[in-house]
Amino acid sequence: MSELTNLGVKAIRDGVADGSFTAREVAEAFNTAVADAADLNAFIVTTPDHALAAADAADAKRARGEDLGIMGGVPIGMKDLFATKGVQTTAASHILEGFTPEYESTVSQKLWDAGAGMLGKLNLDQFAMGSSNETSYFGNVNSPWRKEGSNAAMSPGGSSGGSSSAVAARIAPAATGTDTGGSIRQPAAFTGICGIKPTYGRCSRWGVVAFASSLDQAGPMARSVEDCAIMLEAMAGFDPKDATSLQMDVPAWEAGLSADLKGKKIGIPKEYRMDGTDEEILKSWEQGKEWLRDAGATIVDVSLPHTKYALPAYYIVAPAEASSNLARYDGVRYGLRDLPDGAGLQDMYAATRAAGFGDEVKRRILIGTYVLSAGFYDAYYTQAQKIRTLVSQDFEQAFAQCDAILAPTTPTASFPLGSLNEDPLTMYLNDVFAVPASLAGLPAMSVPATVNSGGLPLGLQIVGKPFDEQGVLNAGLAIQQRAGFDAQPEKWW
Ligand code: GLN
Repeated sequence: MSELTNLGVKAIRDGVADGSFTAREVAEAFNTAVADAADLNAFIVTTPDHALAAADAADAKRARGEDLGIMGGVPIGMKDLFATKGVQTTAASHILEGFTPEYESTVSQKLWDAGAGMLGKLNLDQFAMGSSNETSYFGNVNSPWRKEGSNAAMSPGGSSGGSSSAVAARIAPAATGTDTGGSIRQPAAFTGICGIKPTYGRCSRWGVVAFASSLDQAGPMARSVEDCAIMLEAMAGFDPKDATSLQMDVPAWEAGLSADLKGKKIGIPKEYRMDGTDEEILKSWEQGKEWLRDAGATIVDVSLPHTKYALPAYYIVAPAEASSNLARYDGVRYGLRDLPDGAGLQDMYAATRAAGFGDEVKRRILIGTYVLSAGFYDAYYTQAQKIRTLVSQDFEQAFAQCDAILAPTTPTASFPLGSLNEDPLTMYLNDVFAVPASLAGLPAMSVPATVNSGGLPLGLQIVGKPFDEQGVLNAGLAIQQRAGFDAQPEKWW
């Protein structure tokens, strides 16, 4: 593996800017690493020419003495949920196979405008529904990590599992992710990398294939807190094309980074001590408290009393919105069309959707349609919305006593592929610590803390007040500096 592929966003950007190496050298190194890593199945399509063109543009700018942008010369992976002009965009589904958008998502455009290039489109759980990367039409994504003494293929988490796998394997210095109920944080935790979901509305959803519109948020996944701060700065910002986009300036998160937490209070929610949570994860949570204390913070106990209702409420609200969002895939407008001989319009809809959606997506559409149907709407959907409000109020009350919350990201470390997919409820439980912040629209980050006795990474989660990505990043930095996480998967791919 070439040394350049060990570099992260900041090191690449700064090295290109000061002439230590060229952007083309970097792009070539990562293109080679991507081509050599087919066993991970992290990419659905690769776009080496896109990466090279952006690199050449960065090198030319440098030759002319121009500003390269905050992501200048950095090639990244793009989750295949972002529409990319002229490049197939599938959401890892059969129904969108062959769909080549005529437009670019706002977030990807912002990244290109900031000087980044694209290595390819990353695999994910189909329509971002899943926690293990086993629902993609294009096959499972493998984590680069293996449990000590085992060759079993491990889950990179989901739904941004192509992103987490690629960044952890060092075949991309960073990648975009999206998080509806944990899909940035859980895969980051499973693979020993960082990922931040910003406040709902920070990143435009325009051009991002919609799953649950009131929850979906894009964010960066990278190997350091600094790299996440840089990339989030490039991705965020008001967009008139997204009615839920925040009309707020993007703070200078990178410049604002500080691991000094003096005067800050960090809340520990007692309801997150759940049965079934791995002992080693509880231990790393204790360690996290010590690290934050060492950084100057005071640790306080807080209560989030409605936590246990958050997951069931999420699994009503998200499928309800999904059932409505996915109604547009009908065989008429995009991608797949299944038109059996002599079939009418209704038959075509049915045949296309039956062939085009995977089992998990169908399950969500069925649940969503059911909870929205007359007679059940009030019993399920309205109740879930009420819970959502109560969960938000829990956080408001907790944030009267603290500046940020520390919790585990997941109840367990990564698991072998195939071990949970017969059991959707256990799979859904993986998101138990992640969905409350999603329901409340809060910024939340996962930072690697340690590896467990099996050599697998464990993550810690920081949840912040609305719009306080800086506070989240700073607490993340304090953990990163003390954890000194430098474990790397051994190359087998
Ligand atoms: N794993 C969760 C789900 O399956 C979250 C997905 C996501 O955040 N996109 O719904």
